Amino acid sequence: MSILVLADLHEGQLAGATAHVVAAAKAIGGDIDVLVAGEGVQAAAEAAAKLDGVSKVRVADNAVYAHQLAEPMGALLVELADGYTHVLASASTTGKNVLPRLAALKDVSQLSDVLAVDSADTFKRPIYAGNAIATVKSDDALKVITVRTTGFDAVGDGGSATIEAVDTVVDNAQSSFVKQELAESDRPELGGAKVVISGGRGMGNGENFKLLDGIADKLGAAIGASRAAVDAGFVPNDMQVGQTGKIVAPELYIAVGISGAIQHLAGMKDSKVIVAINKDDEAPIFQVADYGLVGDLFEILPELEGKL
Ligand SMILES: Cc1cc2nc3c(=O)[nH]c(=O)nc-3n(C[C@H](O)[C@H](O)[C@H](O)COP(=O)(O)OP(=O)(O)OC[C@H]3O[C@@H](n4cnc5c(N)ncnc54)[C@H](O)[C@@H]3O)c2cc1C
Repeated sequence: MSILVLADLHEGQLAGATAHVVAAAKAIGGDIDVLVAGEGVQAAAEAAAKLDGVSKVRVADNAVYAHQLAEPMGALLVELADGYTHVLASASTTGKNVLPRLAALKDVSQLSDVLAVDSADTFKRPIYAGNAIATVKSDDALKVITVRTTGFDAVGDGGSATIEAVDTVVDNAQSSFVKQELAESDRPELGGAKVVISGGRGMGNGENFKLLDGIADKLGAAIGASRAAVDAGFVPNDMQVGQTGKIVAPELYIAVGISGAIQHLAGMKDSKVIVAINKDDEAPIFQVADYGLVGDLFEILPELEGKL
């Protein structure tokens, strides 16, 4: 088995998701190479070389890969994929953008959102918004896999892989980068935060989300939201947790004024400890909660912040 992992980058640095994808590669077994593609990514390559289990880091450092657009990244992967049995990336927006292109160009079926490895050709993945887990076997010679990072504990450092430049530069006339607008935040990134506190429709309005700030500050938490809170315009949609939002699995998830619809649970039910604050003691969120506080969030939140 020979596995190529596409590294996740954040502002040119190696993102934490990569260590989870390498863990999935280790579960498959075999030689693991990591591809770092971007512009000015030497530091990311050096960080990837330290990941436990990685044999070789391949670095495609060129302006054409700067924003990891699907078209040049897909073409690069097509060039590199020969010789590998598996190509893995995280099920992030980039992985979900790039890997289907590779799968289509190689005429193989993609395996999406893999959360467990049974063997080198058999994997587990969620279906029906996470309500059922499908075991799927692929007979394709090349297995193209996006990995749900919350399913695999990150590998640590301790490796000393070789770093090798990839000279392949693909033409990209199909797409170009125009601009990006990033939400500025001092808080941890929602997808990787160890603690998440999310507000739902019960928060009432966007102004009331400030009630979560003090608790988030004290716990070093990221702030999330239900889709109802996003749709009502309380907060921006990059804060949405759930089936059509971000999938999170922090050490601690605090759901405030969230009923616990299956689409919300699909994004957070793998959290280690779940705390729910809701005035309705029959709210479905209490069925997945480890700790439940039944009461008015406008009384409980200030009290909780004071106690913390
Ligand atoms: C295809 C599809 C995809 C979807 N994707 C997502 C998704 O990704 N994420 C997501 O979250 N949803 C998603 N949804 C929507 C989902 O079905 C629910 O509508 C949504 O999660 C409800 O959000 P909520 O719990 O904030 O609101 P509600 O269900 O309205 O619940 C509000 C809760 O707040 C409580 N409350 C109210 N006032 C207070 C108070 N003062 N103190 C304490 N508690 C209070 C109420 O008791 C209630 O339980 C999706 C739906 C569909 C159809």
